[in-house]
Amino acid sequence: MREVTIVGGGLAGCEAAWQLADRGFRVRLCEMRPETPTGAHKTDRLAEIVCSNSFKSTLLDTASGLLKAEMEVLGCRLLGVARDSAVPAGHALGIDRELFSGGVTARIETHPNIRVERTRIDSLDLPTPAIIATGPLTGDALSAALVAHCTRDHLYFYDAIAPSVDGDSVDPSVGYWASRYGKGDADYLNIPFDKEQYQKLVEFVRGAEYVQSHAFEEEKYFEACLPIEVLVARGEDTLRFGPMKPRGLPDPRTGRDPYAVLQLRKESREGSLMGLVGFQTRMTWACQKELLRMLPGCSDVSVLRFGTIHRNIFLDIPSLCAPYLQDRARPGLHYAGQISGVEGYVESIMSAIVVALSITAAAEGRPMPPIPRATMIGSLMDYVHTPRKNFQPMNANFGLMPTQGNGGRRSRKVRHDEVSTAALAAMESYRAENDWLFPAPQSLPNFA
Ligand SMILES: Cc1cc2nc3c(=O)[nH]c(=O)nc-3n(C[C@H](O)[C@H](O)[C@H](O)COP(=O)(O)OP(=O)(O)OC[C@H]3O[C@@H](n4cnc5c(N)ncnc54)[C@H](O)[C@@H]3O)c2cc1C
Repeated sequence: MREVTIVGGGLAGCEAAWQLADRGFRVRLCEMRPETPTGAHKTDRLAEIVCSNSFKSTLLDTASGLLKAEMEVLGCRLLGVARDSAVPAGHALGIDRELFSGGVTARIETHPNIRVERTRIDSLDLPTPAIIATGPLTGDALSAALVAHCTRDHLYFYDAIAPSVDGDSVDPSVGYWASRYGKGDADYLNIPFDKEQYQKLVEFVRGAEYVQSHAFEEEKYFEACLPIEVLVARGEDTLRFGPMKPRGLPDPRTGRDPYAVLQLRKESREGSLMGLVGFQTRMTWACQKELLRMLPGCSDVSVLRFGTIHRNIFLDIPSLCAPYLQDRARPGLHYAGQISGVEGYVESIMSAIVVALSITAAAEGRPMPPIPRATMIGSLMDYVHTPRKNFQPMNANFGLMPTQGNGGRRSRKVRHDEVSTAALAAMESYRAENDWLFPAPQSLPNFA
């Protein structure tokens, strides 16, 4: 009987469990919540989304759009639930967090081949095959076991969460609904700032109080997700060239791009929960309250979730693992999700599909067919398996791809379209040539 143990019922753990269970594996999925909470999860649900509710762009000329399209070719399960839980978000795949995690939990808990155990795992001594998918907030004891097992120090950086507010408590007349460059529907409430308002905001961020990190820890952040205070420390205008960028968002009342813009994105279907796009911060809650109340149209704003900051661990995959994400020293032990050197919700889910394919191939006694390098998934896997001095987690981007499209004077969009078309064709061929890796769903009775 083919059995697999998966530690961590987050995004990666659930995708891997569902993939393998559909291939006839008996899956034991161990999740430590609610008995042992993490600093960021709020519920006992599986596949809980801890921060932004965006799975990013669906456009094929974007790296995230291409990544999702390739994952669809490989039969991604969680993207189906994400689409069913979608909220309007322009060309992005925005999701209602509760519908999403509720949908995944129901599918996993009722799958005949999956048994969910609410238990914390503290050691790497597991029956194989096994997958560690415990995420950036891995439990302390398992984290220590990983440190002891790794050849390098445990690696970490900080990840911050942006605040969310009650949409009904924001005065919509101060802003206007639009998506950047008119792409997709007008799903963002844009609050325009003039120069004076913007400078006041920057001054406040500079003078606010912040939650301190431990004295022994260096403050390291993921470059694509910097807290607003770090951006402000880099310069007066950094914020308005970053998350408060006004380009492509002309105010219909003036016909001009404002000096700066704060975007609010719906995080629930009704729009009652709205997130401040890119406003992640480690400001104290008292200061956040003050900051939010001084924003235009927000004098009576009700804060539903404050921004916070968390230490986010990952492993030095190039030294630890052979392709695909398999521990060199412990054959049969795999890593998936954020600890496996990828960064982001969608990337974490992607890594779980790759590990599920690799375990399937091993169970069939066949080598795992290499994922084409010309694809975004192949490129991300190449990145995590290439030794480098200062290994850092990576999210999908076109810079990882072996070709950037024929350059010349053509626009970036045209070049990216070309790369994406070739990548998707390569992924479709991969699936067609290796159809034995993608059997029709099989179920075994009486496991749960
Ligand atoms: C504070 C913060 C904010 C983030 N914001 C974003 C964002 O806005 N956008 C984005 O794309 N990505 C974001 N990320 C990064 C990352 O994409 C997410 O953390 C994502 O959920 C990672 O998926 P995962 O499956 O690896 O981990 P998770 O989804 O965290 O799942 C891991 C699961 O393992 C469980 N677990 C941990 N240890 C044990 C154990 N010892 N035994 C049993 N169970 C255990 C946890 O309870 C959890 O349910 C953020 C990360 C953090 C920490």
